Amino acid sequence: MLIIATALLSVSTVAAAPTPSAVRYAVAPAAVGPNGLSSTLRVSMTLPQDAAPARAELIVPRAIPMGYSQVAYDQFVNVTGARARSGSPAVIARGEGPRWSVRSAGAADPVVSIDYEVDLGAMEANVLAGGDSSRARDGFVSLLGYSVFAYVEGLEDRAVELAIAPPPNRPDWPVFSTLAPKAPAPTGPLTTSARDFYNLADSQILMGPRFKVRRIEAVPDLFLAVHAEGPADDDVMAPLAQQAFDALVRYFGEAPFAHYTLLFDYLEPVSPRHTYGFSMEHMESATFGALAAEAPTAKSTDRQRASFRYNVAHHIAHAWIPKRCAGEGYFPFRWELAPLIDTIWLSEGFGQYAAADALSDVLPASGDGRPYREALVEARFRNTLKDMPDFLKGMPLVSLSRTASTVYSEDFRTGRTVFSRGGMMAFEMDEKIRSSTGGKARLRDALRALVAWSAREKRAFSIDELPTIFRAATGVDTRDIMDRWLAGMK
Ligand SMILES: [Zn+2]
Repeated sequence: MLIIATALLSVSTVAAAPTPSAVRYAVAPAAVGPNGLSSTLRVSMTLPQDAAPARAELIVPRAIPMGYSQVAYDQFVNVTGARARSGSPAVIARGEGPRWSVRSAGAADPVVSIDYEVDLGAMEANVLAGGDSSRARDGFVSLLGYSVFAYVEGLEDRAVELAIAPPPNRPDWPVFSTLAPKAPAPTGPLTTSARDFYNLADSQILMGPRFKVRRIEAVPDLFLAVHAEGPADDDVMAPLAQQAFDALVRYFGEAPFAHYTLLFDYLEPVSPRHTYGFSMEHMESATFGALAAEAPTAKSTDRQRASFRYNVAHHIAHAWIPKRCAGEGYFPFRWELAPLIDTIWLSEGFGQYAAADALSDVLPASGDGRPYREALVEARFRNTLKDMPDFLKGMPLVSLSRTASTVYSEDFRTGRTVFSRGGMMAFEMDEKIRSSTGGKARLRDALRALVAWSAREKRAFSIDELPTIFRAATGVDTRDIMDRWLAGMK
């Protein structure tokens, strides 16, 4: 049975009276210039009435949840003004790291608002990993929450109210937020809310006439948003996306979100040094960046379509693992400096294996009669490991995971080795659980139990707890397999 959670996030497109305890953000790109671009984003923060400080530490993220890298977004930010309650200007001083200190005359006249600008053009030019950058293109603005939203230290857990406006000289531009998806995207200003800063930073915003949103028949609601600078056919993409989404919701047995959005951005590269192709998962959405020539069209081969579908499934699986079920380091997230994480092999290896296993339940066997999951394990994990250098294969898996925590995609040998070793561990556990129980239980049951455990305990699991949770769910001990894969490969 599918149990659909609907009350996790309150979203509204109806303008409501401001909540005194919420942090309010108003964002709007500057006027579109003669070149069709709006490359400066203006952000206005209003602090909660009950928590306005005499000194506010403004922090711009330098790390992305699951980005496994450092990106100094503060270099593209210019704090332009701040006010105290009396209306007098507050004093702004650049601090160390990604911080600004904003001071009023004293506690009797606290800081109530901070304004800043983000240079989207400089961000896209300087962040060479295309998937890590917001962008302004002709008739299109795409904003990744963590690259444009700052927070005041101590207010990360406050509810957020967000008002988004199109450029002042393009009031009829469609505006889309993953916090409150609608198809087609409504024109003009949009207001919505997020539970806290994490959920704001985890969201994405699209604006302009050059993207298309459609709703796909699924439970919960599924949205497909596509921006393509070359040919792209969303009639080819939609059924593949729907199949992946349905398979994952069925696999985990329930959906922990009220709606989900897949955003595809098929781009002409900014320079030969820029790279594209890394996708990013979020609480209730995933963003896929790729070169314009890679967009699915009616001419796509079966192999290309299968690869598209698996990639979508892979990133949807992360909505459960690790977005709602993780080892230490994922929550609460450390925005200023990328955390060192011990369990990327589980987040990536088990997450990707879950995607393969979920699709295996609904897809026919491969040409040689093997289940889809076995063919995928061969292609994606076992064969990948053959090409990886011995020093990475020989590292204890926790050490490798810590290393990959900051260079996962920058030196993708670390990412590939860590996810392949985790994927092989998941596969071997699944084989053992299936054979020990005569097919009555499988790794899926262990993962469902881990998700339920995380929702109940509201904390990160330790590595040592995993076999106990898996055994309680399946009756099968998997500790020997885990210990063998945690050790360096011989
Ligand atoms: Zn992944």
